[in-house]
Amino acid sequence: MPAHEALVVGAGLLGLSAGYFLAKRGFRVAVLEREAPLSCTSDKSTECYRVFWPGDEALAALVARSLELLPPFQSTARPNRRGYLYVGEEAALAALAEKAPHAGPLRIHRQGTSYPQGAREGLNLLRAGALVDGGYYVRTPENRPFLGPVAEGVYLLGAFSGYGVMAALGAGELLARWVAGEALPSYAQALAPGRYRDPSYQPPLEAAQAQL
Ligand SMILES: Cc1cc2nc3c(=O)[nH]c(=O)nc-3n(C[C@H](O)[C@H](O)[C@H](O)COP(=O)(O)OP(=O)(O)OC[C@H]3O[C@@H](n4cnc5c(N)ncnc54)[C@H](O)[C@@H]3O)c2cc1C
Repeated sequence: MPAHEALVVGAGLLGLSAGYFLAKRGFRVAVLEREAPLSCTSDKSTECYRVFWPGDEALAALVARSLELLPPFQSTARPNRRGYLYVGEEAALAALAEKAPHAGPLRIHRQGTSYPQGAREGLNLLRAGALVDGGYYVRTPENRPFLGPVAEGVYLLGAFSGYGVMAALGAGELLARWVAGEALPSYAQALAPGRYRDPSYQPPLEAAQAQL
């Protein structure tokens, strides 16, 4: 296969994003999909996004880059702005927020009444002992994705757990940068599969517990 051709396996949001950014760089892209495009995990998302990634500046930077890339797509892609509500003890939530210097100040809602109507109805559903099962997705132990080379000419883009929609544009662009041999942003190595071969790599496992 000539160097300017790329084969993407999987027409989920991540594969299509990578294909898009490769095509923008002049690659001829073919996409292999065994089902209908966007019919698997990408069809199940709530399409929320957030810039709150306590303890993981690499993920925060990836999502921030995605949001920078969003405006040209806003007529068709409209991630909802309901955001994420963290419910817990105030001191614990404040400690989390301290680990997210990239995010704005913590907004505290002591009464459900300060929250929009739809979200208040959601709060009413929270009952002690209730089990909320929203769905299933693939994640690594520290909740960072696989994003980068795994062998010569082979790249991996996956394990985007509960943030694949909000990270899709930044991730597709970063994968295209790897493939095209372009300069990489500072957070690229922290997300590349090769990190596990680096004895000095310390997965931010504690941070992963706070992330969906
Ligand atoms: C309930 C739920 C809620 C979520 N909410 C959010 C949210 O609010 N915000 C957010 O950012 N993210 C959210 N996510 C996460 C997001 O949906 C995923 O991270 C993202 O969709 C993953 O995209 P993907 O392209 O990696 O995978 P997929 O969409 O699963 O695509 C993979 C594709 O590969 C194909 N494939 C697999 N094997 C082969 C093969 N051998 N040959 C050919 N094709 C193959 C599959 O058929 C599939 O189409 C949520 C996920 C779930 C489940």
